Amino acid sequence: MTVMPRPSILSVEPYVGGESKVPGVNRIIKLSSNEGAFGPPPGAIAAITQAAKEAHRYPDGGATALREAIGARFGLDPARIVCGNGSDEILTLLILAYGGEGTEIVMSAHGFLMYDLAGRWAGCRVIKVPEKDLRADVDGLLAAVGPRTKLLFLANPNNPTGSILPQSELVRLRRGLPGDVLLVLDSAYAEYVTKPDYDPGQALVDAGDNTVMTRTFSKIYGLGGMRLGWCYAPANVVDVLGRVRGPFNVSGAAMVAGIAALAEPGWIEASVAHNTEWRGKVAAALEAAGLKVWPSEGNFLLVDFGVAERAKAADAHLRSRGLIVRAMGSYGLAPCLRITIGTAEECQMVIEALGEFTRNG
Ligand SMILES: *Cc1c(COP(=O)(O)O)cnc(C)c1O
Repeated sequence: MTVMPRPSILSVEPYVGGESKVPGVNRIIKLSSNEGAFGPPPGAIAAITQAAKEAHRYPDGGATALREAIGARFGLDPARIVCGNGSDEILTLLILAYGGEGTEIVMSAHGFLMYDLAGRWAGCRVIKVPEKDLRADVDGLLAAVGPRTKLLFLANPNNPTGSILPQSELVRLRRGLPGDVLLVLDSAYAEYVTKPDYDPGQALVDAGDNTVMTRTFSKIYGLGGMRLGWCYAPANVVDVLGRVRGPFNVSGAAMVAGIAALAEPGWIEASVAHNTEWRGKVAAALEAAGLKVWPSEGNFLLVDFGVAERAKAADAHLRSRGLIVRAMGSYGLAPCLRITIGTAEECQMVIEALGEFTRNG
């Protein structure tokens, strides 16, 4: 006899983090985790430094000041905001609370991996619905919903494909779902979207008691290392999250960093302008070099090399130049690499390295 976890736990592969070293290469450029091109906002760095002096104190378990700052920034009721140790924690807590053994969660085939992972932790059956041209298929998602379905996850824009659904499709998705299925709209890349009719999920959250929008400080706000995310949810879901989350799930340093990041003058405007410019430049240059680049509304590009071997060779070539990007095998997209939009210099290095790669066959 020996100790054994619940069977679903053993269906999960242990997490392997992105590499940050390449043997023999001095300067490493990490473009594998969509971390934002500019590092943390200066105000956030100052706030974290200051918070170090209070590190012996437990943080405010209610995250009151942070929720008020988020509410003021986005025009939301702070009472309907819940903060988490990254939005990953919120996604996990939602599955813990609404899913579990004997239930199903539905997601798009190339949706964010965290839904699959957390679903397995909780013992849910995870249903992945085929996409059309790497875009979530609303009819397919709706057809996959059955009596055991408790949650449906959709990242909009999606990571790693970069694809986005228009608001009309989100409304159609919500309307077609049974009332007892929680729709989780993951808007981690909301700030980068330049489409005029885009709504990160607020309207659908307000329209009922069964839709949640999750957001993060890890991407455009440059605070991935602090682990800070939040959701905007109906009162009934806020109540449930208040029961399942740890009393001090967000650190004091993360809270003050988030408040400072929201207040950083011009940060979002400069980040979006940079991202839009360089995402376009990198995509155009790689297409000119003969590569297929999937349209993206995020701060990354999914580059398609046609077959897995060629993507692997391109990855090795980028690595030899110190450029670390994300291989896509774990997402079922082995012929592709996902490349984060970094600084102008980093983008130029990607363009040059992949230009060289394609010229040499
Ligand atoms: C990066 C990312 C997250 C964010 O995770 P955090 O836990 O907040 O760092 C959530 N969803 C998607 C689709 C992402 O790409």
